[in-house]
Amino acid sequence: MTAAVEAAEVGYSVVLIEKEAFLGGRVIRSHKYFPKMCPPSCGFEINVRRIRSNPRITVHTLTTVEEITGSAGDFRVRLKTSPRYVTGNHSLDGSVIEQLSSERPDTFNMEIGTTGAVYYPHDSAWPPLHVVDREALSEADMLTLTEVAPPGSIDMGQTEEEFHLDAGAIIIATGWRPYDAAKLENLAFGQCPNVITNLMMERLAAPGGPTGGTILRPSDGEAPGNVAFVQCAGSRDENHLPYCSGVCCMASLKQARYLREQDEDAKITIFYIDIRTIGRLESFYHDLLEDENITFVKGKVAGISEDDGNNLILEVEDTIAGEKPTPQFDLVVLATGIVPNTADAPVPIELEYDDYGFIDGGTGVEGVHAAGCSRHPCDVSTATKEATAAALKAIQDLNR
Ligand code: SF4
Repeated sequence: MTAAVEAAEVGYSVVLIEKEAFLGGRVIRSHKYFPKMCPPSCGFEINVRRIRSNPRITVHTLTTVEEITGSAGDFRVRLKTSPRYVTGNHSLDGSVIEQLSSERPDTFNMEIGTTGAVYYPHDSAWPPLHVVDREALSEADMLTLTEVAPPGSIDMGQTEEEFHLDAGAIIIATGWRPYDAAKLENLAFGQCPNVITNLMMERLAAPGGPTGGTILRPSDGEAPGNVAFVQCAGSRDENHLPYCSGVCCMASLKQARYLREQDEDAKITIFYIDIRTIGRLESFYHDLLEDENITFVKGKVAGISEDDGNNLILEVEDTIAGEKPTPQFDLVVLATGIVPNTADAPVPIELEYDDYGFIDGGTGVEGVHAAGCSRHPCDVSTATKEATAAALKAIQDLNR
Protein backbone atom coordinates (compact mmCIF):
# COMPACT_ATOMS: atom_id res chain seq x y z
CA MET A 1 0.00 0.00 0.00
CA THR A 2 2.83 2.38 0.86
CA ALA A 3 4.70 1.74 -2.41
CA ALA A 4 1.45 2.24 -4.36
CA VAL A 5 0.58 5.60 -2.80
CA GLU A 6 4.17 6.87 -2.99
CA ALA A 7 4.41 6.14 -6.72
CA ALA A 8 0.88 7.34 -7.51
CA GLU A 9 1.23 10.60 -5.61
CA VAL A 10 4.10 11.68 -7.87
CA GLY A 11 2.03 10.96 -10.97
CA TYR A 12 2.48 7.28 -11.89
CA SER A 13 -0.32 4.82 -12.57
CA VAL A 14 -0.27 1.90 -10.15
CA VAL A 15 -2.12 -1.40 -10.10
CA LEU A 16 -2.20 -2.95 -6.62
CA ILE A 17 -2.69 -6.73 -6.63
CA GLU A 18 -3.88 -8.43 -3.40
CA LYS A 19 -4.59 -12.14 -3.09
CA GLU A 20 -6.78 -11.71 0.02
CA ALA A 21 -10.30 -10.25 -0.06
CA PHE A 22 -9.04 -7.09 1.71
CA LEU A 23 -5.96 -4.86 1.96
CA GLY A 24 -3.75 -4.61 5.03
CA GLY A 25 -1.96 -7.97 5.14
CA ARG A 26 -0.49 -9.09 8.47
CA VAL A 27 -0.23 -5.58 9.90
CA ILE A 28 -3.97 -5.00 10.09
CA ARG A 29 -4.24 -8.18 12.18
CA SER A 30 -2.05 -6.74 14.94
CA HIS A 31 -3.53 -5.20 18.07
CA LYS A 32 -0.76 -2.61 18.33
CA TYR A 33 2.67 -2.17 16.87
CA PHE A 34 5.89 -0.84 18.26
CA PRO A 35 7.57 1.39 19.10
CA LYS A 36 4.60 3.74 19.63
CA MET A 37 2.15 0.99 20.63
CA CYS A 38 -0.53 2.44 18.38
CA PRO A 39 -3.21 0.35 16.65
CA PRO A 40 -2.46 -0.32 12.96
CA SER A 41 -5.87 1.01 11.95
CA CYS A 42 -4.57 4.65 12.14
CA GLY A 43 -1.89 4.27 9.45
CA PHE A 44 -4.07 1.83 7.51
CA GLU A 45 -7.00 4.22 7.29
CA ILE A 46 -4.73 7.05 6.14
CA ASN A 47 -3.37 4.81 3.38
CA VAL A 48 -6.89 3.70 2.38
CA ARG A 49 -7.91 7.37 2.14
CA ARG A 50 -4.88 8.10 -0.06
CA ILE A 51 -5.74 5.13 -2.29
CA ARG A 52 -9.44 6.00 -2.56
CA SER A 53 -8.78 9.60 -3.44
CA ASN A 54 -6.14 8.83 -6.06
CA PRO A 55 -7.56 7.93 -9.48
CA ARG A 56 -4.14 6.64 -10.56
CA ILE A 57 -4.42 3.59 -8.26
CA THR A 58 -6.46 0.54 -9.27
CA VAL A 59 -6.92 -2.18 -6.64
CA HIS A 60 -7.63 -5.83 -7.47
CA THR A 61 -8.38 -8.03 -4.46
CA LEU A 62 -8.79 -11.84 -4.50
CA THR A 63 -6.27 -11.72 -7.35
CA THR A 64 -3.04 -13.64 -7.95
CA VAL A 65 -0.21 -13.16 -10.40
CA GLU A 66 -0.06 -16.15 -12.72
CA GLU A 67 2.67 -15.19 -15.18
CA ILE A 68 5.11 -12.37 -15.85
CA THR A 69 6.86 -12.01 -19.18
CA GLY A 70 8.84 -9.22 -20.84
CA SER A 71 11.50 -6.98 -19.36
CA ALA A 72 12.01 -3.66 -17.58
CA GLY A 73 9.80 -0.98 -19.09
CA ASP A 74 7.65 -3.57 -20.87
CA PHE A 75 6.36 -6.33 -18.58
CA ARG A 76 3.20 -8.27 -19.44
CA VAL A 77 1.40 -9.71 -16.39
CA ARG A 78 -1.31 -12.37 -16.41
CA LEU A 79 -3.66 -12.24 -13.40
CA LYS A 80 -6.46 -14.37 -12.04
CA THR A 81 -9.32 -13.04 -9.87
CA SER A 82 -11.38 -15.41 -7.74
CA PRO A 83 -15.11 -14.70 -7.32
CA ARG A 84 -16.30 -12.75 -4.28
CA TYR A 85 -19.97 -13.47 -5.22
CA VAL A 86 -20.86 -10.09 -3.68
CA THR A 87 -21.36 -7.40 -6.29
CA GLY A 88 -21.08 -4.30 -4.13
CA ASN A 89 -24.15 -2.83 -5.86
CA HIS A 90 -26.26 -3.14 -2.70
CA SER A 91 -25.04 -3.67 0.85
CA LEU A 92 -25.77 -6.83 2.79
CA ASP A 93 -26.94 -6.34 6.34
CA GLY A 94 -27.22 -8.49 9.44
CA SER A 95 -30.82 -9.47 8.68
CA VAL A 96 -29.56 -11.43 5.66
CA ILE A 97 -26.53 -12.99 7.36
CA GLU A 98 -28.49 -14.15 10.43
CA GLN A 99 -30.69 -16.38 8.26
CA LEU A 100 -27.66 -18.52 7.30
CA SER A 101 -26.04 -21.22 9.43
CA SER A 102 -22.96 -22.30 7.40
CA GLU A 103 -19.64 -21.54 9.09
CA ARG A 104 -15.97 -21.35 8.21
CA PRO A 105 -12.77 -21.00 10.31
CA ASP A 106 -12.21 -17.37 11.29
CA THR A 107 -8.96 -16.93 9.38
CA PHE A 108 -8.66 -13.21 10.24
CA ASN A 109 -8.65 -14.18 13.93
CA MET A 110 -6.06 -16.96 13.43
CA GLU A 111 -8.84 -19.54 13.46
CA ILE A 112 -9.92 -18.77 17.02
CA GLY A 113 -13.60 -19.51 16.43
CA THR A 114 -15.59 -19.31 13.23
CA THR A 115 -17.42 -16.80 11.04
CA GLY A 116 -20.45 -17.29 8.84
CA ALA A 117 -19.77 -18.50 5.30
CA VAL A 118 -20.88 -15.02 4.19
CA TYR A 119 -18.59 -12.78 6.19
CA TYR A 120 -17.24 -9.26 6.49
CA PRO A 121 -13.43 -9.63 6.67
CA HIS A 122 -12.81 -7.19 9.54
CA ASP A 123 -14.02 -3.90 11.04
CA SER A 124 -11.90 -1.62 8.81
CA ALA A 125 -11.98 -3.84 5.73
CA TRP A 126 -11.15 -2.27 2.39
CA PRO A 127 -12.89 -2.75 0.06
CA PRO A 128 -15.86 -2.57 2.46
CA LEU A 129 -17.57 -5.66 1.07
CA HIS A 130 -18.71 -9.03 2.35
CA VAL A 131 -17.25 -12.21 0.87
CA VAL A 132 -19.01 -15.51 0.21
CA ASP A 133 -16.91 -18.58 1.05
CA ARG A 134 -18.48 -20.82 -1.58
CA GLU A 135 -16.92 -24.02 -0.25
CA ALA A 136 -18.26 -23.41 3.24
CA LEU A 137 -21.75 -22.34 2.13
CA SER A 138 -24.26 -25.21 2.20
CA GLU A 139 -26.64 -25.68 -0.73
CA ALA A 140 -29.57 -24.84 1.55
CA ASP A 141 -27.91 -21.61 2.64
CA MET A 142 -27.10 -20.73 -0.94
CA LEU A 143 -30.80 -20.97 -1.81
CA THR A 144 -31.74 -18.89 1.24
CA LEU A 145 -29.10 -16.30 0.37
CA THR A 146 -30.34 -15.86 -3.18
CA GLU A 147 -33.89 -15.50 -1.87
CA VAL A 148 -33.32 -13.03 0.98
CA ALA A 149 -30.38 -10.90 -0.26
CA PRO A 150 -31.37 -7.57 -1.90
CA PRO A 151 -31.77 -8.03 -5.66
CA GLY A 152 -28.45 -7.52 -7.45
CA SER A 153 -26.31 -7.79 -4.29
CA ILE A 154 -25.21 -11.42 -4.83
CA ASP A 155 -24.08 -13.10 -8.03
CA MET A 156 -23.49 -16.82 -7.43
CA GLY A 157 -22.80 -17.22 -11.15
CA GLN A 158 -19.44 -15.42 -10.84
CA THR A 159 -16.43 -17.47 -11.98
CA GLU A 160 -12.65 -17.07 -11.95
CA GLU A 161 -11.55 -14.41 -14.40
CA GLU A 162 -8.20 -13.99 -16.12
CA PHE A 163 -6.91 -10.69 -17.45
CA HIS A 164 -3.63 -9.08 -18.51
CA LEU A 165 -1.95 -5.79 -17.79
CA ASP A 166 1.22 -4.05 -18.95
CA ALA A 167 3.68 -2.63 -16.44
CA GLY A 168 6.98 -0.79 -16.72
CA ALA A 169 8.19 -1.91 -13.27
CA ILE A 170 7.09 -4.38 -10.60
CA ILE A 171 7.29 -4.16 -6.80
CA ILE A 172 7.07 -7.37 -4.81
CA ALA A 173 5.58 -6.91 -1.33
CA THR A 174 4.22 -10.40 -0.83
CA GLY A 175 4.81 -10.45 2.93
CA TRP A 176 5.01 -13.37 5.28
CA ARG A 177 3.22 -16.05 7.23
CA PRO A 178 4.01 -17.46 10.68
CA TYR A 179 6.04 -20.63 10.97
CA ASP A 180 3.68 -23.58 11.43
CA ALA A 181 3.80 -24.13 15.21
CA ALA A 182 2.34 -27.64 14.82
CA LYS A 183 5.76 -28.68 13.47
CA LEU A 184 7.24 -27.96 16.93
CA GLU A 185 5.89 -31.16 18.44
CA ASN A 186 7.77 -30.75 21.74
CA LEU A 187 5.99 -27.41 22.32
CA ALA A 188 2.53 -29.02 22.19
CA PHE A 189 0.76 -26.53 19.93
CA GLY A 190 -2.46 -28.19 18.76
CA GLN A 191 -2.13 -30.76 21.58
CA CYS A 192 -2.73 -28.46 24.59
CA PRO A 193 -5.45 -25.79 24.14
CA ASN A 194 -3.63 -23.24 26.27
CA VAL A 195 -0.52 -23.21 24.09
CA ILE A 196 -1.11 -20.39 21.60
CA THR A 197 1.03 -18.48 19.11
CA ASN A 198 2.03 -14.84 19.26
CA LEU A 199 -0.32 -14.04 16.35
CA MET A 200 -3.23 -15.59 18.25
CA MET A 201 -2.28 -13.39 21.20
CA GLU A 202 -2.52 -10.30 18.96
CA ARG A 203 -6.09 -11.25 18.08
CA LEU A 204 -7.03 -12.05 21.69
CA ALA A 205 -5.82 -8.59 22.72
CA ALA A 206 -7.50 -6.72 19.84
CA PRO A 207 -10.88 -5.04 20.52
CA GLY A 208 -12.16 -6.43 17.21
CA GLY A 209 -10.90 -9.93 18.07
CA PRO A 210 -12.78 -13.04 19.19
CA THR A 211 -12.84 -12.06 22.88
CA GLY A 212 -13.50 -8.35 22.34
CA GLY A 213 -9.95 -7.53 23.47
CA THR A 214 -9.92 -9.34 26.83
CA ILE A 215 -7.11 -11.89 26.93
CA LEU A 216 -8.70 -15.19 27.98
CA ARG A 217 -7.23 -18.66 27.89
CA PRO A 218 -8.86 -20.96 25.33
CA SER A 219 -9.61 -23.98 27.57
CA ASP A 220 -11.96 -22.28 30.06
CA GLY A 221 -12.28 -18.60 29.11
CA GLU A 222 -10.54 -17.52 32.33
CA ALA A 223 -8.10 -14.60 32.47
CA PRO A 224 -4.58 -16.10 32.69
CA GLY A 225 -2.73 -14.98 35.82
CA ASN A 226 0.57 -16.62 35.02
CA VAL A 227 1.84 -16.58 31.44
CA ALA A 228 5.03 -17.89 29.78
CA PHE A 229 6.51 -16.68 26.50
CA VAL A 230 8.71 -19.16 24.63
CA GLN A 231 11.13 -17.26 22.41
CA CYS A 232 12.70 -18.55 19.18
CA ALA A 233 9.82 -21.02 18.69
CA GLY A 234 11.11 -22.50 15.44
CA SER A 235 13.62 -19.75 14.71
CA ARG A 236 17.38 -20.12 15.21
CA ASP A 237 16.92 -23.86 14.98
CA GLU A 238 18.61 -25.91 12.25
CA ASN A 239 15.62 -28.28 12.20
CA HIS A 240 13.15 -25.48 11.49
CA LEU A 241 14.18 -21.88 10.60
CA PRO A 242 17.93 -21.43 11.00
CA TYR A 243 17.68 -17.63 10.96
CA CYS A 244 16.57 -15.10 13.58
CA SER A 245 13.07 -13.83 12.74
CA GLY A 246 14.03 -10.39 13.98
CA VAL A 247 10.75 -9.15 15.46
CA CYS A 248 9.51 -11.87 17.82
CA CYS A 249 11.47 -10.64 20.84
CA MET A 250 9.79 -7.26 20.51
CA ALA A 251 6.44 -8.93 19.85
CA SER A 252 6.64 -10.82 23.18
CA LEU A 253 7.75 -7.72 25.09
CA LYS A 254 4.82 -5.84 23.60
CA GLN A 255 2.41 -8.66 24.50
CA ALA A 256 3.78 -8.79 28.05
CA ARG A 257 2.66 -5.16 28.24
CA TYR A 258 -0.82 -6.07 26.97
CA LEU A 259 -1.11 -8.58 29.83
CA ARG A 260 0.20 -6.21 32.46
CA GLU A 261 -2.19 -3.48 31.28
CA GLN A 262 -5.16 -5.84 31.64
CA ASP A 263 -4.18 -7.36 35.00
CA GLU A 264 -1.92 -5.59 37.48
CA ASP A 265 -1.28 -8.90 39.25
CA ALA A 266 -0.42 -10.91 36.12
CA LYS A 267 2.91 -12.74 36.31
CA ILE A 268 4.92 -13.24 33.17
CA THR A 269 8.04 -15.29 32.45
CA ILE A 270 9.94 -14.91 29.20
CA PHE A 271 12.21 -17.85 28.25
CA TYR A 272 14.84 -16.67 25.77
CA ILE A 273 18.17 -17.49 24.12
CA ASP A 274 19.03 -13.80 23.59
CA ILE A 275 16.73 -10.80 23.72
CA ARG A 276 17.15 -8.94 20.44
CA THR A 277 15.76 -5.42 20.51
CA ILE A 278 17.51 -3.24 17.99
CA GLY A 279 18.33 0.46 18.30
CA ARG A 280 15.77 2.63 20.08
CA LEU A 281 13.65 -0.44 20.87
CA GLU A 282 16.17 -1.34 23.61
CA SER A 283 14.51 1.12 26.02
CA PHE A 284 11.20 -0.79 25.64
CA TYR A 285 13.04 -3.87 26.95
CA HIS A 286 14.74 -1.95 29.77
CA ASP A 287 11.37 -0.63 30.96
CA LEU A 288 10.08 -4.19 31.32
CA LEU A 289 13.23 -5.23 33.23
CA GLU A 290 12.06 -2.82 35.93
CA ASP A 291 8.71 -4.64 36.29
CA GLU A 292 8.91 -7.04 39.22
CA ASN A 293 6.06 -9.15 37.81
CA ILE A 294 8.09 -9.97 34.69
CA THR A 295 10.89 -12.54 34.90
CA PHE A 296 13.43 -13.23 32.17
CA VAL A 297 14.94 -16.73 32.13
CA LYS A 298 17.80 -17.49 29.75
CA GLY A 299 17.10 -21.02 28.58
CA LYS A 300 15.50 -22.87 25.71
CA VAL A 301 12.21 -24.64 26.44
CA ALA A 302 12.65 -28.34 25.60
CA GLY A 303 9.11 -29.58 26.22
CA ILE A 304 5.58 -28.66 27.30
CA SER A 305 2.97 -30.94 28.89
CA GLU A 306 -0.31 -30.26 30.69
CA ASP A 307 -2.00 -31.37 33.91
CA ASP A 308 -5.67 -32.32 34.39
CA GLY A 309 -6.69 -28.66 34.58
CA ASN A 310 -5.03 -27.76 31.25
CA ASN A 311 -2.26 -25.93 33.12
CA LEU A 312 1.07 -26.18 31.37
CA ILE A 313 4.31 -27.58 32.71
CA LEU A 314 7.51 -26.49 31.01
CA GLU A 315 10.78 -28.41 30.75
CA VAL A 316 13.57 -25.88 30.63
CA GLU A 317 17.21 -25.40 31.53
CA ASP A 318 17.96 -22.08 33.20
CA THR A 319 21.48 -21.61 31.86
CA ILE A 320 22.37 -18.75 34.23
CA ALA A 321 21.14 -20.38 37.47
CA GLY A 322 22.35 -23.81 36.25
CA GLU A 323 19.00 -25.36 37.22
CA LYS A 324 16.34 -27.42 35.44
CA PRO A 325 13.04 -26.16 36.86
CA THR A 326 9.60 -27.39 35.72
CA PRO A 327 7.49 -24.26 36.20
CA GLN A 328 3.71 -24.26 35.67
CA PHE A 329 1.65 -21.68 33.75
CA ASP A 330 -1.97 -20.90 32.84
CA LEU A 331 -1.09 -19.93 29.27
CA VAL A 332 1.98 -20.34 27.04
CA VAL A 333 2.65 -18.08 24.05
CA LEU A 334 5.00 -19.37 21.36
CA ALA A 335 7.00 -16.60 19.72
CA THR A 336 6.80 -18.15 16.27
CA GLY A 337 8.96 -16.80 13.49
CA ILE A 338 8.56 -15.38 10.00
CA VAL A 339 8.43 -17.38 6.76
CA PRO A 340 8.31 -15.41 3.49
CA ASN A 341 5.23 -16.16 1.40
CA THR A 342 7.64 -16.59 -1.51
CA ALA A 343 9.12 -19.70 0.22
CA ASP A 344 6.50 -21.95 -1.36
CA ALA A 345 4.79 -19.55 -3.78
CA PRO A 346 7.56 -17.89 -5.76
CA VAL A 347 6.74 -14.95 -8.01
CA PRO A 348 6.25 -16.34 -11.55
CA ILE A 349 9.42 -14.85 -13.02
CA GLU A 350 12.98 -16.09 -12.44
CA LEU A 351 14.28 -14.17 -9.38
CA GLU A 352 17.19 -14.65 -6.98
CA TYR A 353 16.08 -16.11 -3.61
CA ASP A 354 18.18 -17.12 -0.63
CA ASP A 355 17.98 -20.64 0.88
CA TYR A 356 14.85 -19.71 2.85
CA GLY A 357 12.81 -18.06 0.10
CA PHE A 358 13.64 -14.42 0.86
CA ILE A 359 14.60 -12.10 -2.00
CA ASP A 360 17.70 -11.09 -0.11
CA GLY A 361 19.19 -7.99 -1.80
CA GLY A 362 18.42 -7.36 -5.46
CA THR A 363 15.89 -9.52 -7.29
CA GLY A 364 18.36 -10.24 -10.12
CA VAL A 365 15.87 -8.85 -12.69
CA GLU A 366 16.02 -5.25 -13.85
CA GLY A 367 12.70 -3.49 -13.23
CA VAL A 368 11.64 -5.82 -10.39
CA HIS A 369 12.13 -4.66 -6.79
CA ALA A 370 11.26 -6.23 -3.44
CA ALA A 371 10.29 -4.67 -0.11
CA GLY A 372 9.57 -5.71 3.47
CA CYS A 373 9.26 -9.34 4.57
CA SER A 374 9.65 -10.62 1.03
CA ARG A 375 13.31 -9.54 1.50
CA HIS A 376 13.96 -10.37 5.17
CA PRO A 377 12.17 -10.53 8.53
CA CYS A 378 11.43 -6.94 9.53
CA ASP A 379 9.07 -4.66 11.43
CA VAL A 380 6.39 -2.35 10.00
CA SER A 381 8.57 0.74 10.08
CA THR A 382 11.36 -0.98 8.10
CA ALA A 383 8.87 -2.44 5.62
CA THR A 384 7.30 0.94 4.85
CA LYS A 385 10.71 2.59 4.37
CA GLU A 386 11.70 -0.18 1.98
CA ALA A 387 8.38 0.24 0.15
CA THR A 388 9.17 3.93 -0.40
CA ALA A 389 12.67 3.01 -1.62
CA ALA A 390 11.20 0.38 -3.98
CA ALA A 391 8.76 2.97 -5.38
CA LEU A 392 11.69 5.30 -6.11
CA LYS A 393 13.60 2.45 -7.82
CA ALA A 394 10.54 1.66 -9.94
CA ILE A 395 10.18 5.34 -10.91
CA GLN A 396 13.85 5.40 -11.95
CA ASP A 397 13.20 2.35 -14.18
CA LEU A 398 10.37 4.19 -15.92
CA ASN A 399 12.55 7.20 -16.60
CA ARG A 400 15.62 5.45 -18.00
FE1 SF4 B 1 14.54 -15.49 18.72
FE2 SF4 B 1 14.21 -12.94 19.41
FE3 SF4 B 1 15.36 -13.57 17.07
FE4 SF4 B 1 12.76 -13.97 17.42
S1 SF4 B 1 13.80 -11.97 17.44
S2 SF4 B 1 14.20 -15.41 16.52
S3 SF4 B 1 12.66 -14.59 19.55
S4 SF4 B 1 16.16 -13.97 19.12
